[in-house]
Amino acid sequence: MIQKNLSFHYCAIIILVILLVGTIMRRMIKGRVNRSFLCVVSVALLSTMLDIWAVMLDNQHGTDIFAKNVAHMSYLIVHGFTLPACISYMLNLTDTVHIFKQKRIFVALLHVPLTVSVIMVLLNPVTHNIFYLNDSYDYTRGKYFFVLYTCALIYLLLGIMILFISRRMIRKRYLLSLGVVYICEIVAAVIQSLHPELLVEMFGMAAGLLFVSLMIQRPEELIDIDTQLYKLNAYIDMLHRSFRNKKRFRIIMVNVTNYSSIRELIGFDQSKRLMRKIAQYLEALNREQKLGADLYYLERGKFRLVVDENYFGRVKDVAALINERMKESMDIHQMSINLVANICILDCPDDISDVEALLSFGDVLDTIAFTGEIMWASEQLNNTRFDMMREMDSIIENALANNHFSVYYQPIYSVNEKRFLSAEALIRLKDEKYGFVSPDLFIPVAERSGAIHKIGDFVLEEVCQFISSDEYKKLGIDYIEVNLSVAQCMQPKLVEHIMNILNRYKVRPDQINLEITETAATISQQTLQNNIEKLTSAGVRFSLDDFGTGYSNMQRVVSLPFEIIKLDKSFTEIYDNPKLAIVLTNTIRMIKAMDMKIVVEGVETEEMVKLFAKLECEYIQGYFFSKPIPREDFTKFIQASM
Ligand code: C2E
Ligand code: MG
Ligand code: MG
Repeated sequence: MIQKNLSFHYCAIIILVILLVGTIMRRMIKGRVNRSFLCVVSVALLSTMLDIWAVMLDNQHGTDIFAKNVAHMSYLIVHGFTLPACISYMLNLTDTVHIFKQKRIFVALLHVPLTVSVIMVLLNPVTHNIFYLNDSYDYTRGKYFFVLYTCALIYLLLGIMILFISRRMIRKRYLLSLGVVYICEIVAAVIQSLHPELLVEMFGMAAGLLFVSLMIQRPEELIDIDTQLYKLNAYIDMLHRSFRNKKRFRIIMVNVTNYSSIRELIGFDQSKRLMRKIAQYLEALNREQKLGADLYYLERGKFRLVVDENYFGRVKDVAALINERMKESMDIHQMSINLVANICILDCPDDISDVEALLSFGDVLDTIAFTGEIMWASEQLNNTRFDMMREMDSIIENALANNHFSVYYQPIYSVNEKRFLSAEALIRLKDEKYGFVSPDLFIPVAERSGAIHKIGDFVLEEVCQFISSDEYKKLGIDYIEVNLSVAQCMQPKLVEHIMNILNRYKVRPDQINLEITETAATISQQTLQNNIEKLTSAGVRFSLDDFGTGYSNMQRVVSLPFEIIKLDKSFTEIYDNPKLAIVLTNTIRMIKAMDMKIVVEGVETEEMVKLFAKLECEYIQGYFFSKPIPREDFTKFIQASM
């Protein structure tokens, strides 16, 4: 009886324990992939420990037949599970369980060898076919021991076959690492068969798993630190895999559409906490309702619950529960925050079968007006608006290239002077396919793509050209208000840029008034502050647009040199409510006390004109006087009013 060397086993144990503890400490315990990886490591660890026990008994040449039998049998059984566990990990990693499940031959190949070897080992005390203890009580292989080898070989080949079939479904790096496990395992098995005293097989396996852990099981790549949910990368990978594998799944999409406002209101850290809270709620719900969903957080308030076909029946109810919860406020940092969440159920691949389309649908979901009802993607997708949003980038590019943009003007009335003293320039886009596209839809897209700078230049040039024209001089208009988007405000060379255009058309800075939204004004950004200060000292004046829509950071608003505050349309709508009337009256008083003038936006009725005049608001803008109209119409309109 040869003495076996346990050193490699001890090394394997160290590696496997580190892997196990490390995986748990990195919280990689959620989801099928992580769980099956943990399973592989645990089986390998247990099998190594049992082999150490068995080999120790052998090396001591003890005579305890019972212990020797138990040790060897349990080792052989547990060891039999290591390769099938690896296969299960691979199936989960490549998300191909559902494909292979359909193939009977595969299911048989997966279960039969394991079952056969377990039964044979269990029957061994009677049959002595696998091993027996010889006259000197030494462990000796039986005549059917080769069956165990054959089973292992089948699993090895099966694993390599799966790797080959799913080679296009996973990243190259994943493929490589899984390949390394097999190579380690095969090399170790060969060494061990040549030198039976060197127990290197489990060491080979442990080394392979270590490699997998370093290359694949990387939480930073897949898991969002704040919410502990899978992140965008993982979502995209999953979508690619599932579409390729023709897997059916359903997604509950939860978009917190007022995420940006919330972030400005409570700050970055607190909004992270809020997102974590939502994530925890969704996880708890997923468990309670036994939905079996994988949860993702795609940043900026977008959550996704991805549900397997077996649980489709529960999706609607769970979505309803989420919807109810989202309507209640969330407490964070002694503040109660109201969420506005659009919830949509989407079937894949029926509704969408393409990753890009799915991602852009997720973005467009943000722009769909909140109704409080759960949406079905199938209904939304029939909407032309969705097509339009998907094509928005090219619509904008096309409009820039083919002059589909124009500038309209909406007159602003001075209550004291009883005349139209200024106007707001508003961009218009007329697309060949979709007709007029609202700036509320294309401006955010243009801000993201950077097209906003070209659009901004176009508007300013048009306005300057108008101001420098002879017809304008006869209208008695003091200045034109031009909207400046957040992205433009952040531009380092904004001041030179604007002054260049003004100079080119010989327009005086006081003939222009730049409108900045409340959102922009609350972003604490040095560039923005510098830009505003430089432009102000050059003589350009600023208005604060849409006051009252966002969450005002009054301190910051006050710290910027606004000449005019534009009360948002919503103020004219809420006047029916007596309490809000108090808010309005006091807001107006406060603005006046700070020596700023007020433009009321969105005034549609004479009643409102009278009301705001009584409240001593200086300027009024709205459909009551005129909608935004093309330059020629505007000129005629003002001339007629003189
Ligand atoms: P805004 O700057 O607050 O512009 C006022 C919006 O209210 C305009 O919508 C205008 O048509 C609308 N409005 C005016 N009076 C009434 C009224 O009595 N009732 C109602 N219901 N609405 C009224 P529009 O033109 O669709 O523009 C929407 C937003 O798009 C603008 O809001 C502004 O933020 C942005 N925008 C428009 N033109 C430009 C531009 O040239 N550059 C940038 N960066 N943003 C622009
Ligand atoms: Mg405006
Ligand atoms: Mg406005």
